[in-house]
Amino acid sequence: MSDPAPAAVKAVRPPDAMKKLVALCKQRGFVFQSSEIYGGLKSAYDYGPLGAELKRNLMGEWWKDMVTTRENVVGIDASIIMHPNVWRASGHAAGFSDPLVDCKVSKERFRADKAPRPAVGSALPITCADKGVAKDWADRIAKDYGVELDRDANVLNGLVAISATEFGFVPKGASAPTKTWPWRGYVGPTFGCPFLTDEKQFNLMFRTALGAVDPMQDVANALAELTAAPDLSAAVSAKFGRDAAEGVLAKSLTDFATTKDRAKLLRGVIEHLTAPSMAYLRPETAQAMFVQFKNVMDSSGMKPPFGIAQMGKSFRNDVTVEHFIFRSCEFEQMEMEFFCEPGTQKEWMTFWKEARMSWWRRFANYPDDFTFRQHASDEMAFYADDCYDIEYKYPWGWGELEGIASRTDYDLSQHEKHSGVTLQYVEQEKADPKTGAKPWKYKPFVIEPAAGATRGLLCFLLDAYHEEERVTATGEKEIRTVLKLHPKLAPIKCAVLPLVKKDGMPEKAREIIAALLKAGVNAKYDEKASIGKRYAKHDEIGTPWCVTVDGDTLLNDTVTVRDRDTTQQIRLPIAEVVATIKARLEA
Ligand code: ATP
Repeated sequence: MSDPAPAAVKAVRPPDAMKKLVALCKQRGFVFQSSEIYGGLKSAYDYGPLGAELKRNLMGEWWKDMVTTRENVVGIDASIIMHPNVWRASGHAAGFSDPLVDCKVSKERFRADKAPRPAVGSALPITCADKGVAKDWADRIAKDYGVELDRDANVLNGLVAISATEFGFVPKGASAPTKTWPWRGYVGPTFGCPFLTDEKQFNLMFRTALGAVDPMQDVANALAELTAAPDLSAAVSAKFGRDAAEGVLAKSLTDFATTKDRAKLLRGVIEHLTAPSMAYLRPETAQAMFVQFKNVMDSSGMKPPFGIAQMGKSFRNDVTVEHFIFRSCEFEQMEMEFFCEPGTQKEWMTFWKEARMSWWRRFANYPDDFTFRQHASDEMAFYADDCYDIEYKYPWGWGELEGIASRTDYDLSQHEKHSGVTLQYVEQEKADPKTGAKPWKYKPFVIEPAAGATRGLLCFLLDAYHEEERVTATGEKEIRTVLKLHPKLAPIKCAVLPLVKKDGMPEKAREIIAALLKAGVNAKYDEKASIGKRYAKHDEIGTPWCVTVDGDTLLNDTVTVRDRDTTQQIRLPIAEVVATIKARLEA
């Protein structure tokens, strides 16, 4: 019954942890590709039995820390579809699009604002996947751009960043470029290629139509009628009458007068016909907290400084899908808007920065893998007066996990403007610092800690993934994979294992399971395979403790409790199992 591996070395995180983790997630039921039996849906993921538990535990810990253990924060659960004007007020409808660019050689599509920007004067090598690809791309570049790049294995050399707006080709041994092209100062992130298309705007919000009547039938009818008319512009004006004199249709008609672009005018018609039913899936959970600020204050008696928190699904039609669940189209966020008196935002920023960082680190094996990065002033939104990211050290480098922004009163002001409803707090006890008059009516300033729950789940899986080389009792080397998840996050807290499936051991194990479940501990009974294999499986899925029923149990009502991280076992009376596991969980 004792653990079969006598000698163990320190567990380490292997360099290819990400690859192994993705495989483990599927094999053990943490994360599956969405709709896999239909070939999968790019950038959408399903959380399996263990992943769903892990996500719930993570989000439950956030809710406990941010809402239920704080007097000055309340939670809401808002609808995913909100009034379209919310997104006009927030700026998402107009500006929630990232400029995207295609590489003309590799066909890679990427976000211009995230692309590498090589220094002026530096070489711009194109690094291809292998020598064969290098030859193909060199031929394509020779044909399309008229230059013979120098091939060195899989790297194409000869391009140089001449200035911030121009790159050129400098043949081997030459000192000046023989050919130049205009440039926007960045290259494709994967291959480093500077031959790029123009930037294109993509709306990241998912659109949907509200109402049972499908607006597409109206669109189809209108297009059938308009495209048959000899004079498109006159037909649009006649069909839409007053509507054609204002809004999107008026603009399309004016543009058409100069461009004669029929497609653009018909697009205007479609926008006009679909606008009344158009709705969006929320791209963030935050806006509901601003929109319900007054209702929450009026109904709950909260007054600044106080926070409104929410967690749940958000949707972004992100074209740049990256690194497994790091960036996906549908994901979960955990956000809080903390409303405070203008002038106190610096103190609250310090407070929430520390609170949020200590929360992430509390559950980590490697707290130093979480760090702050302050945004430079040109990186911040124009209305923000300070902003930090909590970054995690992913296998591909540091990247965002949570943003903490000091957003001034921008959001409340915007919603006030667009809704016509006053969104302010009336402080009876204080005088307005500017006028000296009482009461002080002000729009609170906001600190927003906005975290990714599914991205957080990836961080904790990466933090937990370990391998340990061990020597078995027969002298062979073996790798023990162990997911060192914090017990509060672990999907299964305790496995109860009969050593063999006979002699009354399963019955005893079932009694223990029943007691654990009754006490609210997520425990699982497991009798399949050898005891060594069962320990290995539970190490791999992060179960912190295994309780084993063996021959001695039948004699003296004791069991062993094995610790996942140390593999050490202690023997306990059955009567103490529940209290011991619960005490360790709370420790
Ligand atoms: P990024 O720069 O990575 O696109 P962002 O600055 O747009 O992130 P925010 O709008 O600040 O992100 O959202 C808050 C948090 O939500 C992020 O820190 C991240 O953890 C998470 N998040 C944002 N977009 C996605 C996504 N597409 N998939 C998974 N998580 C996401």
